[in-house]
Amino acid sequence: MSRTVVVLPGDGIGPEVTAQAIRVLEAVAAKLDLALELLEAPIGGAAFDAVGRPLPDDTLALCRAADAVFLGAVGGPQWADVAVELRPEQALLDLRRSLGLFANLRPVKPHPELAAASPLRPERLVGVDMIIIRELTGGIYFGKRGRSESAAFDTCEYSVSEVERICRVAGRLALERRRKVTSVDKANVLDTSRLWRETAIRVFTTEFPEIELEHLYIDAAAMHLLSRPADFDVIVTDNMFGDILSDEASMLAGSLGVLPSASLGAAGPGLYEPIHGSAPDIAGRDIANPCGAILSIAMLLRHSLDLPDAADAVELAVRDALETGTRTADLAVTGGAKPTGTAGFGDAVLARLAL
Ligand code: NAD
Repeated sequence: MSRTVVVLPGDGIGPEVTAQAIRVLEAVAAKLDLALELLEAPIGGAAFDAVGRPLPDDTLALCRAADAVFLGAVGGPQWADVAVELRPEQALLDLRRSLGLFANLRPVKPHPELAAASPLRPERLVGVDMIIIRELTGGIYFGKRGRSESAAFDTCEYSVSEVERICRVAGRLALERRRKVTSVDKANVLDTSRLWRETAIRVFTTEFPEIELEHLYIDAAAMHLLSRPADFDVIVTDNMFGDILSDEASMLAGSLGVLPSASLGAAGPGLYEPIHGSAPDIAGRDIANPCGAILSIAMLLRHSLDLPDAADAVELAVRDALETGTRTADLAVTGGAKPTGTAGFGDAVLARLAL
């Protein structure tokens, strides 16, 4: 059976890191004799320049019919004056909404050899291995909003079924890990958070009794993430809290360039992308770190193509490349070996890919 992956390189360093990620995906397919169809389509500023819209209908149609979608990054200063609804970043919001991608998964497992790149003391990072699950299509980012000359409002709304389904994603993942879930809310102040907490307790008690469920308020969670990061296994939280916590957690790993993400819905294709943006300041110079993009391919193999062994092999190859000192400039140590370029890092991973 042939599998289809739609590739959306996007803007800035998007095409550069995508090229390395796709080389790895092609190598996996060749080694496993997997029939893989790769379809490239425009998105973001590149699509706006080509057809006047950041998410062309043809691109969306291809994505809907695919097994998985891989995205580089979108955006850049050249589109700063474009109307909000035509900005490159809008394409990503529309794509997530159109594909019903309600669960955003961000694993954070710092590579020990990158400990020096994190602002946290190395001993704090020992044993850190967590995944943050952010609800992606509800809450305050999608609620009713308004503004007058002298005031503005945004509304946060959650239904029981929206909370149930994200808790189930967390529960299923926790069963494959250390069986601990931390639900983050602000139940001492917000009604949506009280609903969130009650629903989480019911879902975990009735459907996942073997999982330890902990509750933290968002303000405390922001602190505990830095003071005891190794205690977390699965964190599940709403759209805005997850947005903030996952960026905070990225600093545990040392660089924005190393972290992958997956966005999943109830059915249909998942969307896989590195967590960083289009980094226009370093675009076109072969210095971007493709690590997050390549690790996003591992997530694609695991969650959309059901190839967990291949996913493990990609992650091992990346770890091996880092362990043996292959570093892009963002991770290079002053006075250390000369940094490797974007394509050079891809070469190092491919050379270590054992399947
Ligand atoms: P950014 O993530 O693009 O860059 C922040 C800093 O990190 C920059 O100094 C950049 O050089 C560095 N960096 C990022 N990725 C790197 C990598 N792989 N290797 C080495 N260094 C890396 O964030 P920004 O500068 O705030 O945003 C730039 C553009 O990207 C904006 O238009 C923004 O809207 C867009 N953006 C897109 C996405 C996305 O496509 N998912 C996410 C965030 C931001």
